[in-house]
Amino acid sequence: MQIVDLHCHSSASDGLLPPAEVARRAAENGVNILALTDHDDMEGLPDARAVALEAGMLFINGVEISIEWGGLQVHIVGLNFDDRDAALNAGLLSVRSGRVGRAQRMSAELEKIGIEGCFAGAMRHAENPNLISRAHFARYLVEIGVCKDVRSVFESYIVPGRPGYVEHRWATLEESIRWVVGAGGTAVIAHPGRYKLNRAEMRQLLEEFKALGGQAIEVVSGSHSPENVAVFSRFAREYGFMASCGSDFHGPGESYIDLGRLAPTPQGLTPVWEAF
Ligand code: AMP
Ligand code: MN
Ligand code: MN
Ligand code: MN
Repeated sequence: MQIVDLHCHSSASDGLLPPAEVARRAAENGVNILALTDHDDMEGLPDARAVALEAGMLFINGVEISIEWGGLQVHIVGLNFDDRDAALNAGLLSVRSGRVGRAQRMSAELEKIGIEGCFAGAMRHAENPNLISRAHFARYLVEIGVCKDVRSVFESYIVPGRPGYVEHRWATLEESIRWVVGAGGTAVIAHPGRYKLNRAEMRQLLEEFKALGGQAIEVVSGSHSPENVAVFSRFAREYGFMASCGSDFHGPGESYIDLGRLAPTPQGLTPVWEAF
């Protein structure tokens, strides 16, 4: 049986383990096909690839692009592209370049409610300073005792309507698909069950994504409930999307699901990895 994991993070973005460690852990967990999908950055790919190939896995280039759609932060995973593609590299650089300024604005908002030093504190948790993420803020807020764990931070802070959240201009859906497909890859909607969209809005996202050249959605995901899996299996069939699957592993102790420890993809769907 194939064990496939096409969504996970290393310390090149907001994961806890270096890229080589992620690949090593995936191999230990029996993964046969692995994609590393750091946020807006491909820096971790060479190290992860080297270990994955050494361990006999099929390694797929990946990235998780932050976009804004309908006022929400949505994630598009790119898979199996040429990581040397100039437009993809330039696009990801443009998305990354806004992150430090956003982090400074988040820090200023948190200072207004008496939580100081968040920019420097979050930066200390970021291995890659260009990829400062809300996950690093969350780890700092846990470190100084504001919240008991990262999950609680995302209930009370740094999410829409809560202190420390700031609006940000990410890439567009069209740009993200153009960059991935232009580099020879497949664009995938990450964890669609996580977005606060009603059915009509979800259909609109799926239709726009398809019209722009998107080909797959994550059906089985570390952030999907069994009900989400059933709903997005039906959508995949209806719209003719291939099915992707991924743990969204960020690190031991922080993620619900370890690398490769995913429920099977439901029958009757076309796995995105079949073509790899
Ligand atoms: P950013 O890309 O900087 O907006 O940060 C988003 C990241 O925060 C996600 O990729 C997750 O790593 C983390 N995150 C968001 N929501 C949650 C949550 N509810 N629980 C844990 N981590 C979360
Ligand atoms: Mn993350
Ligand atoms: Mn995501
Ligand atoms: Mn992710």
